Amino acid sequence: MKKIAVLTSGGDAPGMNAAIRAVVRRGIYCGLEVYGVRHGYEGLINGDFQKMDLGSVGDIIHRGGTILRSARSELFKTVEGQHLALKSLNKVDIEGLIVIGGDGSFKGAGKLVEQGFPTIGIPGTIDNDIAGTEYSIGFDTAVNTVMEAIDKIRDTAYSHERICIIEVMGREAGDIALWSGLCSGAESIIIPEAPQNVEDIIIRIQQGQKRGKMHSIIVVAEGVCSGEDLKTIIKEKFNLETRVIVLGHLQRGGSPTAYDRMMASRMGAKAVDMLVDGEKGVMVGWRKCQLVHVPFDKAYEDKHKVNMADFYLARSLSI
Ligand code: ATP
Repeated sequence: MKKIAVLTSGGDAPGMNAAIRAVVRRGIYCGLEVYGVRHGYEGLINGDFQKMDLGSVGDIIHRGGTILRSARSELFKTVEGQHLALKSLNKVDIEGLIVIGGDGSFKGAGKLVEQGFPTIGIPGTIDNDIAGTEYSIGFDTAVNTVMEAIDKIRDTAYSHERICIIEVMGREAGDIALWSGLCSGAESIIIPEAPQNVEDIIIRIQQGQKRGKMHSIIVVAEGVCSGEDLKTIIKEKFNLETRVIVLGHLQRGGSPTAYDRMMASRMGAKAVDMLVDGEKGVMVGWRKCQLVHVPFDKAYEDKHKVNMADFYLARSLSI
C-alpha cells in the first residue's frame, strides 16, 4: 500500500483534528502518501482530495472542529454515489481509506468494503453512542463543556432559588447527560435508557426544598424530550416555575481535552497500522483500556449501552 486517504463524516467532534494529525503523521512515518478528503463522502464523490504533508497538520492538535470539514451525503447512500466515490479513489491510485465519524459513517464505509476497498473507522462523535467501543473521540470535551456551563448556571440558580432545566445533546444515548449531570451534582438526570415520571423528579426537588435547598438542576437528554416540553409538564402538573437552557451546538465545539487528544492520537495511529497490516471493514475501538478491533457491523448493528451503575450512583448521591 502506497497511498491512503482520510475523511471526517457526520457531526463534527473535538479531537477530530488530532486524529487527522495522527493519521497523516503515522502514515508518512510508515512511508505512505496521505491524502485528506474534504467534506466527507461528498468530497469522496467529487474527488475533493488534498495531499497532506507533515506541515499540513501542524498547529491543529488543539483545535476543535475538523480542518477537512464534515458533511452528510445523500448521494453516497446510493449505489451510484458509492461507485462515483470508488472511481475518484481509483483515479488517483488511493488504496486505503480511514473514516472518522459515527455509526452512520461506518455504514457508508462498509459499502466501500463490500466493493473490496480497504477501509478502517475511527469513532468520532460527542454522543459516545457507538457500539463496540467504550469511547468515541469528542465525548470528554463535550462533557467538560456541559459541566462548566452547568457550574455557571448553578451559581445563578442558587442566587435566585430557581429550578433550571438543562437540555443537552444525546438522541439515543444518555452519556452526555449522565456524565455531566453526575459531575455537576444535578438533582435529576433524564436519559433515554431510564424512563422516569415527572412525579419522581418533583419529589427529588421537594426533598431538597425540605432541607432548605431552594435551587435545583435537572439535566435532560434531547432524545427524551425538549427542555421546553418538560417545563410545560412541570408547570401544568405542579405549578412550578422553571428556566430552560438549551446548550445546543456549544457542546460540539472547543479545544479538545488532553484525554481527547490522547485517544485521537492513539486511534489515528492504530488505524494506519491496521490498514498497513491489510485489515479492512474494522473500527478502532477502546475497551478495558485497550485498543481493540471492532467489525463495522458490530459498531452499527449492536446497541451502545450506557453505564447504568453510574445512573444509580448519581441517584444515590443527589438525594
Ligand atoms: P453522528 O453520530 O454525528 O450523526 P454519523 O456518522 O452517524 O455521525 P450520519 O449522518 O448518520 O452521521 O452518517 C454520515 C454519512 O454517512 C451520511 O451522510 C451518508 O453519506 C453516510 N451513510 C450513512 N448511512 C449510510 C448507509 N446506510 N449507506 C451508505 N452511506 C451511509
